[in-house]
Amino acid sequence: MHFKDLGLDQRLLKKLNHLAFNKPTEIQQTAIPVGILGKDVLASSKTGSGKTLAFLLPAMQRMYRSKPFTRRDPRVLVLTPTRELAKQVFAQLRTLNAGTPYDGALIVGGENFNDQVKALRNDPMFVIATPGRLADHLEHRSTHLDGLEMLILDEADRMLDLGFEAQLRRIHEAASHRRRQTLMFSATLDHADVIDIASDMLNAPKRISVGHSAEEHTDITQRFILCDHLDHKQALLDKVLETEDYNQVIIFTATRADTDRLTKELNERKMKAVALSGNLNQTQRNSIMSQFERDCHKILVTTDVASRGLDIDKVSHVINFDMPKHAEEYVHRIGRTGRAGNKGD
Ligand code: ADP
Ligand code: MG
Repeated sequence: MHFKDLGLDQRLLKKLNHLAFNKPTEIQQTAIPVGILGKDVLASSKTGSGKTLAFLLPAMQRMYRSKPFTRRDPRVLVLTPTRELAKQVFAQLRTLNAGTPYDGALIVGGENFNDQVKALRNDPMFVIATPGRLADHLEHRSTHLDGLEMLILDEADRMLDLGFEAQLRRIHEAASHRRRQTLMFSATLDHADVIDIASDMLNAPKRISVGHSAEEHTDITQRFILCDHLDHKQALLDKVLETEDYNQVIIFTATRADTDRLTKELNERKMKAVALSGNLNQTQRNSIMSQFERDCHKILVTTDVASRGLDIDKVSHVINFDMPKHAEEYVHRIGRTGRAGNKGD
């Protein structure tokens, strides 16, 4: 199957060709035709399987093919649980909307509120946001969602875990007219609270499920290493980092304090590790992520802040130094490797 078999606009096909995307992934093959028809979608597929394009392409198609409901309000809103993921979705959007009038704004917490007010005043057609900050802007009346045509929730289950339910419901209320289309995507969507909010926010959705979580993920090799106590665990980690032929590694710890402690330990042993913890301000977080993406650091130590969505192609290994609290989080953590057909450990 090719992208041209999915009913996509010629202009989008040309862009995909430029980006050297030749063949749609399985989730793209199923979700794009449904998305283009304007139907609601509740979709899950494994990590790294191309969900972002599965929702951005139907959104772009709508720009090309249909008239806006209003002239001022955003037409498409994408919500993500973390700022880092919002940035990444925004970057992916820019590869598609460059050179078109369908501009976007990135509206996340930790950045200057007034700058965002100004950006929203330019009436962007796309808004990529985290729910907390977007809800603040609704309250401040710096944006309105009466004309919203498409609401996309990426990693919806994580947004609920992070306590964003009230904000999600407020956003849904602000954009609740009959013609709105709503799409929900994640690798894990079968929790009761997700089903609950989905049944309130989605209208007769097409349920799409491609593959099932970690056991289906044959590109990721999984193993566990037993240890007796913390010092032993630390020693085993050193051993793994010494013997494994890795490109870049993400190490997950349970708490921010563990993240800082472990990073210090690794650096004392001259292993180039950097900590991404929720304690940092946004500028620091941005700079660490962009350094890691540019391969300035081999090892990123973090908590579950980085477990969702992030797509960094050189990550060959994920280490769960501490167990995640929920099984789903394990699926997302290890899914930072083995992406887009690559192998991971
Ligand atoms: P997910 O959200 O399912 O975890 P992403 O949307 O982040 O996955 O995509 C993972 C990677 O796969 C990205 O680097 C993306 O550019 C790439 N990708 C997406 N679609 C395709 C495709 N059709 N062919 C090749 N690579 C793709
Ligand atoms: Mg994703």
